Amino acid sequence: MKPTTGFLYHEICMWHDPGPRSVYDASGLYFQPERALENPETKRRLRNLLEVSGVLDGLTSLKAAPAQIEDLLRFHTPDYIERLQSESAKGPGDAGDGAPFARGGFDIACQSAGMAMRAVEAVMTGEVDNAYSLGRPPGHHAVSHQGLGFCLLGNIPIAILSAQAKGVVKRVAVVDWDVHHGNGTQEAFYQREDVLTISIHHDNNFPLDSGGVEEAGERAGEGYNLNIPLPAGSGIGAYHATLDELVIPALERFRPELIVVASGFDAAAMDPLGPMILNSQCYRDMTHKLMAASNRLCQGRLVFVHEGGYSEGYVPFCGLAVLEALSDQESPVVDTLGDEISHWGQQALQPHQRDIIESIKPCLDRIRPPL
Ligand code: ZN
Repeated sequence: MKPTTGFLYHEICMWHDPGPRSVYDASGLYFQPERALENPETKRRLRNLLEVSGVLDGLTSLKAAPAQIEDLLRFHTPDYIERLQSESAKGPGDAGDGAPFARGGFDIACQSAGMAMRAVEAVMTGEVDNAYSLGRPPGHHAVSHQGLGFCLLGNIPIAILSAQAKGVVKRVAVVDWDVHHGNGTQEAFYQREDVLTISIHHDNNFPLDSGGVEEAGERAGEGYNLNIPLPAGSGIGAYHATLDELVIPALERFRPELIVVASGFDAAAMDPLGPMILNSQCYRDMTHKLMAASNRLCQGRLVFVHEGGYSEGYVPFCGLAVLEALSDQESPVVDTLGDEISHWGQQALQPHQRDIIESIKPCLDRIRPPL
């Protein structure tokens, strides 16, 4: 039987406006203004491709209420939420560092977080088998006391903490395959052994000086944060080996009740903010691997929450591949560029990438199953 896949999308999320330039603005005067890289088009075009391909018809549309203040405060500090709320009511501002927003940005971020919450609840209650929340702003860089790197609120921490508070889930594993380090999610659960956080990312990309293997969690959470920093140029072979030899074994050891994927598509070959070379087929295959793991470990309970991905042309193909996999559908869409990318040099696992994966394997020993 085909799985039922919940899908969350709200047009208001596309109205979040980071302003004209949110990456290259450090030099000020000498930058010709351009649209922000984190803009609605990558996500809107993904949603549009789902519709045009017919895949959307096979998904279960879920509606979500915005996250409430009490939900946000399970992760964020009251000072930060108060400041964000009051600045957003007045007009443009920055939630911290590189997380600009226009008037109303706070309310839109609450919608994005509410969609992640709803996705988790719908999967945990059995309303759907798995789910994809296509919201923005993204969340995995936001820390407790400020926004960071396009992220205003920690959508995934808020969703997990809320579900735990309501008693619908205890043990959760997060697999963050966005090309940047999931530092915010790491912070949220750094001292916790009931949430395993795994981040696969480009070594020391964003945030700088964040995401090293030595950041493994502390106190009760020691060993329950697994960072997998990969070298620039990592491709399909490196990511398959990473999943097969690190991520899936970590999940097997941990035995979660739910797996949440921080789903950025900026490790794809065409991305302006990531130096990796994946294609849409690789995202499809990685989704199948995580589905198989979730079927073995937690009745297929798998929630995807959209993060980065900045190629307007290519993100839709990657997202379509993931949603086709999740819902066991096949559309007539052919990704011809993806086929070309698969033939690029160094797509196979390279010796220096193999060495890094081997060096991380001992970290798995610290992950233990539930008592
Ligand atoms: Zn990213």
